[in-house]
Amino acid sequence: MHDFAVIGLGAIGGATAAELIRRGHSVVGFDRYTPPHTMGSAHSDTRMIREAWYRGSPYMPLVRDAYRGWANLERASGRRLLRTAGALMMGPSDGRVFAGSPLRGVAQPDTDYIFLSADEVVDRFPWLRPDPGTVTIYEPRAAILSLEACLEVTLEAAEGADLRFDEPATAWSTSASGVRIRTARGEYAARRLAIAAGAWTPQLLPRLSLPLEVERTVQYWLEPAGEHANALAEGPAWVWELEREGTWYGFPPTARGLKAGMHFQAGRRTDVEQVDREVGSAETEALRNLFDRYAPGAAGAPTHASVCLYTNTPDENFILDRHPRLSRVAIFAGGSGHAFKFLPVLGGLMADLLTDEPPSRDLSPFSLDRFR
Ligand SMILES: Cc1cc2nc3c(=O)[nH]c(=O)nc-3n(C[C@H](O)[C@H](O)[C@H](O)COP(=O)(O)OP(=O)(O)OC[C@H]3O[C@@H](n4cnc5c(N)ncnc54)[C@H](O)[C@@H]3O)c2cc1C
Repeated sequence: MHDFAVIGLGAIGGATAAELIRRGHSVVGFDRYTPPHTMGSAHSDTRMIREAWYRGSPYMPLVRDAYRGWANLERASGRRLLRTAGALMMGPSDGRVFAGSPLRGVAQPDTDYIFLSADEVVDRFPWLRPDPGTVTIYEPRAAILSLEACLEVTLEAAEGADLRFDEPATAWSTSASGVRIRTARGEYAARRLAIAAGAWTPQLLPRLSLPLEVERTVQYWLEPAGEHANALAEGPAWVWELEREGTWYGFPPTARGLKAGMHFQAGRRTDVEQVDREVGSAETEALRNLFDRYAPGAAGAPTHASVCLYTNTPDENFILDRHPRLSRVAIFAGGSGHAFKFLPVLGGLMADLLTDEPPSRDLSPFSLDRFR
């Protein structure tokens, strides 16, 4: 019997398996595909790590731990995973990005977070065209994570685990002595179980009726435009709330191009088994229109696009908790579009729950109790 089983070897499940191995346990893990794959929430080139958004929230210590965790992974693997490029958080002063958000507490002057007027944004980053009155916080230390490399390094760190890819878990049960997991290929036993199945979590925990909503979201890549191509590559990334169009983001170009897309869009709720993986010309045109209006000359037409899934909780905070009735089972779910940056930390916190170690951070904001 293994010490631990992990269902889902994407971002958080992979990190959980790696951390359990690091702590000297035996682990069996399952994924319905072979990560990194394009069916869930963790694919497509890059992810952002930034902290200003989390100021004053329970995430602030986690984001600091995460930077340390990524640095450790870089040292251990000898691979570069993170590139400092800076990030802009932009929006109307009474919008979602600023009003009622932790960013209100950001003091000025402050070298970690720099307030810029719309004119100052244009002076520094001439490919952007914010409306007058747009508030901007520039966080120079924010960084871009190389997503696929991060996942590869994480799964390499789980070496020694029995990792079973393309083997979906179809059922699991607990008993006085442990857990049993049935998959498409066999049956396995372990003392305890981690469920980190991303958008598929409700299928594995139907009786909990978790308040999770799967959202379809599209990432686009565009050719950086000639005049600004070199400067764009230096950064920054942006997350930009617009009153009419919603919140969009852009990443400095990689070899695949400049990545951009919408962050949280009402009306994009979907069922994980019925996700429309095609990207329509109307959605591509809407993104193109954003560039024409707010970043003219930054990029050419989108060259390709990829559908990705958010799994959202009502308050956009994660679920990281033990099963309410089955203490052998720990759950991570509800990444809500912002969990990737915390991968090394969340793997450790899941391992704490599974091994009965006191969690290194307060997990009450992520408890299942808040939905009851
Ligand atoms: C477009 C987009 C942009 C994002 N940008 C950022 C960002 O800039 N910064 C940031 O921090 N976060 C970002 N995120 C969020 C982040 O990527 C996710 O929160 C994170 O990947 C969630 O990890 P997860 O392990 O829960 O899910 P996943 O990484 O999707 O992993 C779940 C795994 O479970 C497997 N699985 C499911 N069911 C079963 C089963 N029955 N048996 C076996 N395996 C199973 C799946 O195959 C999958 O591999 C973004 C997400 C998207 C979609």
